[in-house]
Amino acid sequence: MTSVHDLIRGAAQRETETREVRATGPSRTAQVPGHRRPIKLASTGVSSCDTQLADDPWGIDRAPGYGPGASAADTIAGDAPRQGPLPARYTDASDAELHDWITAAKQTLGDRVRILGHFYQRDEVVQYADFVGDSFMLAQAAKDSPEAEAFVFCGVHFMAETADILSSDDQAVILPNLAAGCSMADMATIDQVEDCWRELTAALGEAAAGTGEPGALQPVIPVTYMNSSADIKAFCGRNGGIVCTSSNARTVLEWAFARGQRVVFFPDQHLGRNTAKAMGVTEDEMPLWRPHLARGGNTEAQLRDAKVILWNGFCSVHKRFTVDQITKARADYPGVKVIVHPECPAQVVEAADGAGSTEYIRKAVEAAKPGDVLAIGTEVNLVNRLQQQRPDLTVFCLDPVICPCSTMYRIHPAYLAWTLEALVAGETPNRITVAADVSRDASVALERMLAAKP
Ligand code: SF4
Repeated sequence: MTSVHDLIRGAAQRETETREVRATGPSRTAQVPGHRRPIKLASTGVSSCDTQLADDPWGIDRAPGYGPGASAADTIAGDAPRQGPLPARYTDASDAELHDWITAAKQTLGDRVRILGHFYQRDEVVQYADFVGDSFMLAQAAKDSPEAEAFVFCGVHFMAETADILSSDDQAVILPNLAAGCSMADMATIDQVEDCWRELTAALGEAAAGTGEPGALQPVIPVTYMNSSADIKAFCGRNGGIVCTSSNARTVLEWAFARGQRVVFFPDQHLGRNTAKAMGVTEDEMPLWRPHLARGGNTEAQLRDAKVILWNGFCSVHKRFTVDQITKARADYPGVKVIVHPECPAQVVEAADGAGSTEYIRKAVEAAKPGDVLAIGTEVNLVNRLQQQRPDLTVFCLDPVICPCSTMYRIHPAYLAWTLEALVAGETPNRITVAADVSRDASVALERMLAAKP
């Protein structure tokens, strides 16, 4: 991961180019990285999607929503954690001071502390990461680092929870900004999921946990995407269910169909729909569960006929991608290869040349031939980094608007500096701890996922 430092230098260069382009106004090549435009929220005129979002980074935590970025307009969960104000030493610091403090603290802490950086994290933070990966890769990195006393997780809340579940009890997992949640994970609360389960049990006429008879299929198997709270993973563990990632969702659904008549899939409807569609499940067999409506807004017959009941959740970053963007990319760049993440809507996945997890996208860029052009439908920080890693390719984000993951964006370098200096002082700020019983049940669902084979 040492090459990250080179990437950051490249990012600074690209940022300069971006500013120059903005100064001269929009151009025909608006789809090319470095030639992007910000979008403004119509109601406020405030920029919601722009990598220059840091005019008032501390204001993000004071505001009631998720802050600028793709999920700016989503409703934040009422019980979402709030981050207290940072000391002025950090909020008033220059970028150079923060860099010096982070570097010095990291050196002092050495192997005792590992910094984990998600693929979607901003470059100003990722440059300090000891490991960079998707949420499960980072949780595995924590599990595989027994020498570390603490992990500073530069991702979002559910990821830190998973790292806490997989790491040992005496290792601390720290989220530098407690307000870095995930709008998709927040779309399914444990109370809503418990209510859904009760209603499914009533509608399907049997205990949703199964008849207990040998060989009998459970009426419903709960499956949750990794992007969900530890409580929901634990719910799945307790009820014969399982966790999936975007890499193994099909394998996990096959596992579930070998044990159940149908699946209820939390919280991302798009990953659930795209995966099930590829397995031959029809739209009619995939009703949407709207948590605020009785029976999720479905009839008993719809639930009985269902193969996959999809929770009405989505990722605000991936929901932005459209078929029109793909059409335009193909018109602008004949021969372009379009690759999207399966959190994108089904029509986008169908119009693309390929769809897969972050790791799939990363490998597709790695395998491309010099001169290839790739249009990618996933978070802009990752796409820009992929372009920096392969300057011999043209790699650009399908969305012409710079729109990072709002929640990931809350980890400003000042929070990292504050966290690391507190660790040097012998404190453990913002520790994410999953209760022992929740951790035990969530581990059951995670272990099932690891044991599920294609
Ligand atoms: S990109 Fe989407 S799913 Fe991932 S952390 Fe951000 S909001 Fe959540």
